[in-house]
Amino acid sequence: MAKAKVPRATTKRLPIYYRYLNILHDQNVSRVSSSKFAKAVQIDPATIRRDFSYFGALGKRGYGYDVNQLLRFFKKILHQDHLVNVALIGVGNFGHALLNFNFHQDSNVRIAAAFDIKPDIINTVQSDVPVYSMKDLVSQLREQQIDVVILTVPAKAAQNVCNLAIKGGAKGILNFTPVRLASPANVRIQNVDLTNELQTLIYFVKRYD
Ligand code: ATP
Repeated sequence: MAKAKVPRATTKRLPIYYRYLNILHDQNVSRVSSSKFAKAVQIDPATIRRDFSYFGALGKRGYGYDVNQLLRFFKKILHQDHLVNVALIGVGNFGHALLNFNFHQDSNVRIAAAFDIKPDIINTVQSDVPVYSMKDLVSQLREQQIDVVILTVPAKAAQNVCNLAIKGGAKGILNFTPVRLASPANVRIQNVDLTNELQTLIYFVKRYD
């Protein structure tokens, strides 16, 4: 059922819903009105209803949303009901920052392995994460059954590294490089282009100045 065609925009909002539900749960709130929910996540109620409806759900008229029920539901959908190990490739300045940033604190994602070509950090532990040689990428991904990788290598290395990761079984790549990667249809690439984001933001700020 949850495998039905869910728009990408919806899937991007799911973690926002999930985070707010966790906040409510931590505050021992068991029920939330749809208008309060909408206000808190800054998404209009109709969109939320539509998003939820893709998963055959939820909320009763005049009652609002049952926090625990929704939380259990989203936990499953977002695979937050078990720990997901991911790998990071390229432990430069940016890669380091992501290793330091503890995904684990508010999600069940953990960077379990990192890879680089720099001899001085290979076989060391950085921010609690073991750093392996790129020579071991394919075998380690397979051995540790890691199928999601974060790419923080220089642009010129991106496609090669991407190919290797796929050879190791990667099915999802969070791409922080500006390169538009070529990949087989069964591999999902999610691009995070911070320069782009910033330029868009600046455009809007200046336009409405
Ligand atoms: P630094 O100052 O540590 O070099 P940086 O973020 O400015 O950081 P980049 O040149 O962007 O450096 O490289 C990011 C990281 O990717 C570096 O640690 C680099 O050693 C690593 N790297 C470069 N080429 C590859 C590759 N082919 N495979 C894996 N890692 C690589």
